[in-house]
Amino acid sequence: MATSKTAKPAAKATTQSTPAKSVNNGTSSFQPYVPKKGEEYMSKAQLAHFAAILDSLKGDLMADIERTVHTMQDEQTVFADPNDRASQETDMALELRNRDRERKLVKKIEETLDRIKADDYGFCDKCGIEIGIQRLEARPTATLCIDCKTLEELREKQVAK
Ligand SMILES: [Zn+2]
Repeated sequence: MATSKTAKPAAKATTQSTPAKSVNNGTSSFQPYVPKKGEEYMSKAQLAHFAAILDSLKGDLMADIERTVHTMQDEQTVFADPNDRASQETDMALELRNRDRERKLVKKIEETLDRIKADDYGFCDKCGIEIGIQRLEARPTATLCIDCKTLEELREKQVAK
């Protein structure tokens, strides 16, 4: 018996429930952590929350690095026009620099995940105070509190002068 195509295209109602509030830190979005009353800073649940954020960030970066490699392999065309060639080389240099930056970030994320495992996460490396959930959600690899970070940046600017 011939199989007749009776399957209708599934008309799915695409009513996407938009999450009430989600934080976007550039690469991935997630639900901000809401600590329970009297919950200890960097409780097990909080550490798990940040580990999940870091994991998804890492996944995004790895996918991006992968994609860049493929794009570069695809774009190995040799342009006849020297102007095109020049811009292609600039693009490549830019891609390589981006990839390098992403690789470093992946390394930093891995180091941060190790710190979470070692229960050494969320406190400023310099002064030891709590970095804070909100700041960590925006910058999960932060190792300094906002004050120490600001001071460090000021100092770096002065050195650069
Ligand atoms: Zn500090």
